[in-house]
Amino acid sequence: MSDPVRGLLTRQEQRIVAGVAAGTRAQRMSRGAWAGAASKLGTEDDAQLVAAAFSSGAIGHPSRTGPTPRLTPSEGALVHLLLRGLPAEDIAPQVGRSINDVKASCRSLQAKLGARTPAHLVTRLHERGLCTCPQKDIPPAGTAGPGADQ
Ligand SMILES: [Zn+2]
Repeated sequence: MSDPVRGLLTRQEQRIVAGVAAGTRAQRMSRGAWAGAASKLGTEDDAQLVAAAFSSGAIGHPSRTGPTPRLTPSEGALVHLLLRGLPAEDIAPQVGRSINDVKASCRSLQAKLGARTPAHLVTRLHERGLCTCPQKDIPPAGTAGPGADQ
């Protein structure tokens, strides 16, 4: 269950997943590698692909960047579901809101975090420290210079 799965994906598949995580429509560039990664990670959805890749360790956790954004309560309530890559249609019944209402919060979150796609939003949530991964507390390289208190 906690076996490291980095190496599960081929290098090309890792590149494609990293591209999707960065907000490109990478599956259009290499459909074969995208399909390979999607089948190994058990999903055919970009956002879920990225969510599964981070949680399984198939690709590395993104570095912590940028300020932690101030979220409205309705945005904040969606974060843990968005980190799983769930679409608005699946999130709405879980939070007792309409699909359109959830979609509006998702658009607002994407704009606030500068995410280009729902898959990129998953990455942004990790980068901004809004996830619960143990890795999120590792500071970006260069922030703790020599002499920093430990
Ligand atoms: Zn994380």
